Amino acid sequence: MPGDKPNGAKLTWAVGANGETTHVSEAENGLKCACVCPTCRGPLIAKQGKVVEHHFAHASGDECRHAVETALHLAAKDILAARKEIVLPAVEIPASYGFPHIEIAPERRYLIEAVAVEQKLGSIVPDVVVRINGRELLVEVTVTHGTGRDKIRKIRKLGVSCLEIDLSDADRGLVREELERIVVEETGSKRWLYNVRAEERRRRKLSEGTLLFSVNRGLAWHVDGCPIPARTWRGNHYANVIDDCTGCDHLLNALADVGVVCDGFRALGRPRPPPTRGTRPPPEAFEHPE
Ligand code: SF4
Ligand SMILES: [Zn+2]
Repeated sequence: MPGDKPNGAKLTWAVGANGETTHVSEAENGLKCACVCPTCRGPLIAKQGKVVEHHFAHASGDECRHAVETALHLAAKDILAARKEIVLPAVEIPASYGFPHIEIAPERRYLIEAVAVEQKLGSIVPDVVVRINGRELLVEVTVTHGTGRDKIRKIRKLGVSCLEIDLSDADRGLVREELERIVVEETGSKRWLYNVRAEERRRRKLSEGTLLFSVNRGLAWHVDGCPIPARTWRGNHYANVIDDCTGCDHLLNALADVGVVCDGFRALGRPRPPPTRGTRPPPEAFEHPE
């Protein structure tokens, strides 16, 4: 039955009498804990028996959907608000399809200026929003499911960097010190869902290349005007997209049915082909290869 226990996780964080998130280990036993559910605000009972893992249960006997996730979002927010700092993982663009590996910023500690939880931003509701160096950073705290593609697409559209903190493998009994270590100090469970600086850098790099449209010839996809050249037919230079471009150091991006972005002209000091055969790539037409 869906409720307080998605994926077997019990509700171990609640909202205490002072309005701050309270771990079950910090609460008094039973109703004396004076805690409420972060979702429905109903009173909770702290169950600290000897057999079952300590947890909170609704006094009404009901279960509450998303209570575990919401409680962890609140706990993460409270921790970030109290510590006012976070170690962010390195920002880099991994090498792929010939696109070079680019390191943009190393892993390091940042000071947090402000924190908000589950506030609407455009068409999405990020779990937590922090402000660092005057810029907003979205933080998604995942407990059972990772952030969906649709939400990531909306985040990219918003143009705001987003960090995921993945707690799906974390011990369900996670106490405050452990959660604090994961949320603030460590980077093993953190990854960039979207990073504005990486995206700007990727687009700049792509703009150094030339878009060569692919043409279908028989069973093969070719691009004409290959600067190396990979192949020549009756004096015309061309490349086979699959056999030549995908392993080529000059490939910056490839998009099925469109063509390749090649930086061979710039790198080899060759003139770009005339606009009929190639043009500068419209960056928005190119998605970073996943
Ligand atoms: S990516 Fe390489 S093989 Fe393809 S067109 Fe450019 S230089 Fe030629
Ligand atoms: Zn509830």
